[in-house]
Amino acid sequence: MADLRADTITIETPTGEAVRLAVRISGRAHRISLRIDPTGSGAVLVVPEGASVKQAERFARDQAGWLARHLAKQPNRIAFDDGVILSVLGRKHRIRHSPDQRRGVWVEPAQVVVDEAADDETGTADLCVSGEADHLPRRVTDWLKRQAREEISLRARAHAHQLDRRVAKVTIRDTSSRWGSCSSSGALSFSWRLILAPESVLDYVCAHEAAHLVEMNHSPAFWRLVRGLIGNWESERRWLKRNGAELHRYG
Ligand SMILES: [Zn+2]
Repeated sequence: MADLRADTITIETPTGEAVRLAVRISGRAHRISLRIDPTGSGAVLVVPEGASVKQAERFARDQAGWLARHLAKQPNRIAFDDGVILSVLGRKHRIRHSPDQRRGVWVEPAQVVVDEAADDETGTADLCVSGEADHLPRRVTDWLKRQAREEISLRARAHAHQLDRRVAKVTIRDTSSRWGSCSSSGALSFSWRLILAPESVLDYVCAHEAAHLVEMNHSPAFWRLVRGLIGNWESERRWLKRNGAELHRYG
């Protein structure tokens, strides 16, 4: 009586990242096990026939620390670490571990580089992180999520206001399949990783979900609303299709 119907399970790692595990039901397996997919960025939960969803989930959650360590080692991952460069709302930030300071996480703005070839070029800001090195990834993730919440809430609510609608609630998640969603009760949900995309792309997703408060579909009327809010949206949508997977490499 295999009641395991889900083909994926999502667990949260100690660094706060949601990891989606593919579930494979195996007639030959005698116990639940977890395998890192050596080719991709994911992991597979192998479950014997007849095991319950609860058992499988409990096992995966118990292994979350192990899983996070192994996924971080994968070549296509970009772990948050001293010196790593991130794009935040399209502006470059270099993570700088500042262990002696006790200010949490803060940004030291880029110095303007006046270059003869490109006189408007700006440099990279420092994203300074105090505390122990072990806590740095978690602190950076938390900071990015806070930035995402602020930026997204503000924009989604402004777009909704424009359409004479109210946003019931804004939730920030680490979703791997969708950048945003809108419920029939007016609650909007977004991926925090949008903060790593250019500003216009984040704004497009906010406008897109706000427009769903009026049109719960992707009809021509829906796209007219989006256009009314932000003008042309085609290149932003294309950017997400082309580069979206890239945003999931971080952290
Ligand atoms: Zn949509």
